[in-house]
Amino acid sequence: MKIFGVFGDPIEHSLSPAMQNAAFRALGMDACYHPFRVSRERLEDAILGAAAMGFGGLNLTIPLKEKALEIVQPDDLAQAIGAVNTVSFGISSGSEIRGHNTDGFGALLALEGAGVKIRGRGSRVLLIGAGGAARAIAYTLEREGAEISIANRSLQRAEELAGSIGGLGYPLYDLEKLVKESEVIINATSVGMKKGDPRLFPGDLLQSSHAVFDIVYNRETELLKDARAAGALALDGVMMLVYQGAKALEIWTGQKAPADVMEKAVREGLKKRAEKEKKARAAGKTGEDGEMRGAREG
Ligand code: NAP
Repeated sequence: MKIFGVFGDPIEHSLSPAMQNAAFRALGMDACYHPFRVSRERLEDAILGAAAMGFGGLNLTIPLKEKALEIVQPDDLAQAIGAVNTVSFGISSGSEIRGHNTDGFGALLALEGAGVKIRGRGSRVLLIGAGGAARAIAYTLEREGAEISIANRSLQRAEELAGSIGGLGYPLYDLEKLVKESEVIINATSVGMKKGDPRLFPGDLLQSSHAVFDIVYNRETELLKDARAAGALALDGVMMLVYQGAKALEIWTGQKAPADVMEKAVREGLKKRAEKEKKARAAGKTGEDGEMRGAREG
């Protein structure tokens, strides 16, 4: 049996094991995928150990994605993004331990799957956020020819990211103007993960011509509610999670991933998690923070 895994800290709420094990079953592969709690300090030991034990591949999540660059051989995209979310062990390249980043690819496929055209010059994209996920999306969409404006709470981070892809960076108070000028609006901040999070901009700025993609996937955000109310296309982060996992599986195995099976497993996992948290809240065992745990993988 081939072993795969996801390393992170915390890791117990990850949806990746359910998603990848469902895919392996559907493909008839003798394989299994486990979550492993690994600290930043032990990441090198853990990756080398997995390589030595013949693991088929790994995913990495918070807080390990940036640290991994010092340990594995990153491909061009992972190097440019500055983060690794997928590790492969030399199937086609000898004994190398290679690092990839499939988050941006997941976002691109999710957008395309919803009918949003990014390929080819001229798509005016407003990307809100300049953290790890935003970087992956920015580099991937820029390679597809999108014209990208980046707005972020920390202006310096927005400007640095925009500068590295030939776009422009803005503070959040420019959002009103930017929303009006854009066709595709992507929220890649963590705002919206928690019930009661504020809106990034007033909902009435949205029009039916907008495509709004919020990469948060653990709940329906105010942004998506506003988009629906405006008659705009509203897309949550579930398919991004599915496609980044599907791409990882393809890198490890060379097989086409069953994205429909993986999506079903993620949606079932989210439903179970929501029911569990509802019960825990009713029993007074957790607050709103309970909703957030484990919702930052990808
Ligand atoms: P990160 O590296 O920590 O970046 C967080 C981003 O959110 C930064 O741009 C930060 O701005 C911004 N931010 C945080 N709090 C804010 C606030 N109160 N007001 C305005 N901006 C705020 O995190 P990440 O890994 O990029 O993840 C971001 C989100 O994407 C999370 O919700 C995560 O669950 C989701 N995600 C989804 C997928 C998927 O597959 N669907 C994959 C990866 C991540 P500053 O730079 O100013 O701090």
